[in-house]
Amino acid sequence: MISLNENNTKYTIGIPRAISYYGNYPFYYGYFTALGLEIVLSDKTTSKIINEGCKYVVSDTCLPVKVFVGHVLNLLEKGCDTIFVPSLQSSSYKINNCSKIRGLPEIIRNVINRPFRIIDPEINKTEGISFKDFCYDFAHRFEIYDEGFIEKAIKKGWEVYNNYHKMALMGLGFEEALKNAIEGKMITKPIEIVRPLSVVIMAHGYNLYDERVSLRLIKKLEKMGVKSYTSLNITKEDALKAIEDLGEIQYWANELDLTGTAAYYMLRNKVDGIIALSAFGCGPDSLMVEEIQYHAKQRNMPMIHINIDEHTGEAGFVTRIEAFVDMLVRRKRKALEKSEVINLLHTVAERGKITAKAGKQNQIEEEIKI
Ligand code: SF4
Repeated sequence: MISLNENNTKYTIGIPRAISYYGNYPFYYGYFTALGLEIVLSDKTTSKIINEGCKYVVSDTCLPVKVFVGHVLNLLEKGCDTIFVPSLQSSSYKINNCSKIRGLPEIIRNVINRPFRIIDPEINKTEGISFKDFCYDFAHRFEIYDEGFIEKAIKKGWEVYNNYHKMALMGLGFEEALKNAIEGKMITKPIEIVRPLSVVIMAHGYNLYDERVSLRLIKKLEKMGVKSYTSLNITKEDALKAIEDLGEIQYWANELDLTGTAAYYMLRNKVDGIIALSAFGCGPDSLMVEEIQYHAKQRNMPMIHINIDEHTGEAGFVTRIEAFVDMLVRRKRKALEKSEVINLLHTVAERGKITAKAGKQNQIEEEIKI
């Protein structure tokens, strides 16, 4: 039972590749297509999309919202006249999104003065508007009322989402896990990549997995021999528990991706450092980053905070990352010298095997060289 529009063809819905796309798109894809809708995605973020978005909002709006506006304009350019701008108020009771995400449908309505239809179902668990209400509201906008059909489509949405999440937990990056989940593919073996150094990145998905916005941070670190852990590598339950273990409480809806993820890896001492990537002008991030900075300092864990906006240049960005990684290398080398190398030298000296000593030293130097 698929509802058709007045031209007797499938309804089409445009999805901006921004904000909730990063995180929820696997569900949107499974659910919307099972309802019989045709999805049009905006293009991947480019400088042009960002610049266009910037023209429509005041300059102190945060970068992700400017990017979102740019993606809506991109969809309009493609001839898409029905655009999905969900009204995401709170994800749990009194766990809220920031005011800009909460007001996103209104922002779009007010800044883009063109004729198009906004599909803005609401989720607001604080006010008793559940995820199920959100899904039903969405379906009703396309004149789909059959409960059995809607339930089946919701199930399909969760199926795609859960497969995506499982693959991300196994070590696949955002793009790969998403592509596989959409194509109905599954990987069953965890991917373990060992690198000489590792960091945890605390960031919103829309800042980190959008390669133009994050300036390909994860790939840059990989090239430097640094493994990155992100919120994709842990469950929401683990992230929430880590916030509690830190003696803090969750306030913001996106907090698990930031405070929760950083806390999880920091408390387990699983990483050599923390990178906080946030958008200039973001209120929630400034509080969450400050909180983690405080705890990192207590634990002598190196941390860098990188603020991004539409003017962030690649050269300065790379210099800061390189300097941070350089410092991590020096720390690791020093720690190794103190423990493993000194122990090794003692052992070697006792046995009088001078050549083995030099060989092992070189090997250790090699391992931490980037
Ligand atoms: S959480 Fe921060 S970066 Fe994200 S939309 Fe809100 S103000 Fe912008």
